[in-house]
Amino acid sequence: MVTSNANKAREVAAFFGGLLEVTHVALDLPEHRSEDVGEIAQGKARFAYGQLNAPLIVDDTGFSIDALAGFPGPYAAYVQKSIGNAGILKLMEGKSDRTARFTTAIAYADATGVRVFPGTLEGQIAHNPRGDGGFGYDPIFEIGGTTLAEIPMEEKSRMSHRARALAAFQDWFLQEHAAGQSK
Ligand code: IMP
Repeated sequence: MVTSNANKAREVAAFFGGLLEVTHVALDLPEHRSEDVGEIAQGKARFAYGQLNAPLIVDDTGFSIDALAGFPGPYAAYVQKSIGNAGILKLMEGKSDRTARFTTAIAYADATGVRVFPGTLEGQIAHNPRGDGGFGYDPIFEIGGTTLAEIPMEEKSRMSHRARALAAFQDWFLQEHAAGQSK
């Protein structure tokens, strides 16, 4: 798992829970500008494979809020660094539709090329930040009244947008592996 974000690496390792051995390579990957997290993840995976020459996955995550016409979308990292969760809550003052979603693209690269697996999680923007777990937008993103920062990391790693993308990757990977072994 190639990422400069240790939280992502921890969630990925927790998701696989020993089924696949995951090594975290802390590398800051250049991101090209795109509105599609899948395209961004694909570019990151190509770059990482060029550096490491070993099978790997990368993650790119976007966050979009319906009442703000999809903002911040693929610019989630910049917006988190600039106005942060407090700025998002300010923009959401007086909005009744608080629907938001995370979209993660997991890209897997090996010698045969790059494949991308998407995963989405829909929830609501909370009225106040809550919880001291998680990272990024987790304290202001709630599902069924609980923010992602209020649930243990192990639980988030089983039900999140990232988990859904990883599950799609895992299904494909295990199938390929089984197919390769039966040849
Ligand atoms: P990136 O995929 O590293 O570009 O992440 C985009 C932004 O979304 C960063 O500010 C991350 O902190 C945030 N982010 C990514 N994944 C999550 C998540 O699972 N929960 C909350 N915030 C996230």
